[in-house]
Amino acid sequence: MTDKPIQYDPSCMDDYDPNSMDANMAQQHILASVHAISATETVAIRQALHRVLAKPITANLNVPSHTNSAMDGYAINGQQIPQSGQQDFELVGTAWAGRPFTGTVATHQCVRIMTGAVMPDNTDSVVMQEHVRVSDTLITIDDKQKQGQNVRQAGEDIAIGDPVFTANHYLQPADIGLIASLGVAEVVVKRKLKVAFFSTGDELVSIGSQPKKGQIFDSNRYTLWSMLSAMGVEIIDLGVVRDTPEAVEQAFMDASQSADVVITSGGVSVGDADYVKSTLEKLGHVNFWKVAMKPGRPLAFGQINKAFFFGLPGNPVSVMVTFYIFVQAALEKMMGRNPRQRLRMQAKSLSKLRKRPGRVEYQRGYYEINAQGELQVSKTGAQGSGILRSMSEANCFIYLPMESGGTEQGDTVEIWPFESFF
Ligand code: AMP
Ligand code: MG
Repeated sequence: MTDKPIQYDPSCMDDYDPNSMDANMAQQHILASVHAISATETVAIRQALHRVLAKPITANLNVPSHTNSAMDGYAINGQQIPQSGQQDFELVGTAWAGRPFTGTVATHQCVRIMTGAVMPDNTDSVVMQEHVRVSDTLITIDDKQKQGQNVRQAGEDIAIGDPVFTANHYLQPADIGLIASLGVAEVVVKRKLKVAFFSTGDELVSIGSQPKKGQIFDSNRYTLWSMLSAMGVEIIDLGVVRDTPEAVEQAFMDASQSADVVITSGGVSVGDADYVKSTLEKLGHVNFWKVAMKPGRPLAFGQINKAFFFGLPGNPVSVMVTFYIFVQAALEKMMGRNPRQRLRMQAKSLSKLRKRPGRVEYQRGYYEINAQGELQVSKTGAQGSGILRSMSEANCFIYLPMESGGTEQGDTVEIWPFESFF
């Protein structure tokens, strides 16, 4: 028997705590603390996907470069479309994409033209081949045609001198194609942000080892790796670190020397084997917060040497939630990327959602559009912070604000689609 008071570990008991840190404040504090890296490099455009432009891009040519046909058909001078009835045109040649017609087109003459071919001189309209009658070298059109139809004007996509991208633009697939359409082979981008991460815990084994009784496979490193991979950062995986002060200290020294950002999972609560906190107090300036949220209450943020540090909770769902809520936007700012808005929508809840007031909750849901065209959402099974399946089956967070005491079936709730985090 002992009369030592019972200690509750905040990582295991995500209960209401009036002294908790407000999630919004934590988010703002983090965003305000980090700053963008400045070094740049020049890369071929195929290496520029998911990179951040360091300089604006301005059009050095027109796209399209020439006025050209949007259809397979016949190029004519639109002045000669009949007011009423029909009009014959003499066929004098063919314009192919990449092989222009170089002759002259006189009154009541036309040129067979393919999609993408340059409009011959003295023509400005294309009649679709389905809308003409052809006999030998004569075509006949009617009065339903409009001058200028089926033609793409030079520069209608981008004109010379147009700003195409601002600096800090994050490059997506369409952007790479657009840059290629300008004939630009290389772009100047910010260097990649280097992010190191490791898992802490004596109970963890990596894939490939045989877990002994009481041991589990480390999954957090794989979810972290996956979330980081989607962001275009350089990833430094430092593996599993044992719960000893020496191992934890060494891991932090290595990580903070090689990376701009260090992310850990586990060990930020007050459990006996959690050396992360005491080590960090020695090595850097780190805040430990009990954030008023579920899942994911314990969170550490600060600096070790020159690296920013995020200490995420150990539970697998908490890792993902705290990454998306606190880490992702901060990494984007450090990458030099323009801030982006994430989609929030209202949906009808098909599930009753249990919750206590006093903390925000990010429950996991699956939204879809029902037969009436309305957005509806159901929760994805048990919502424990260790149940990763609730995340894997979900396509959105169901955000329940601080004051909410739960919702009934049929209530409208706010959803945050995962698409806007990727
Ligand atoms: P901790 O915050 O270290 O007390 O961990 C909280 C819970 O998350 C415990 O049940 C751990 O076993 C579990 N956990 C911690 N790290 C990992 C990991 N990398 N992969 C899977 N589960 C983990
Ligand atoms: Mg642990």
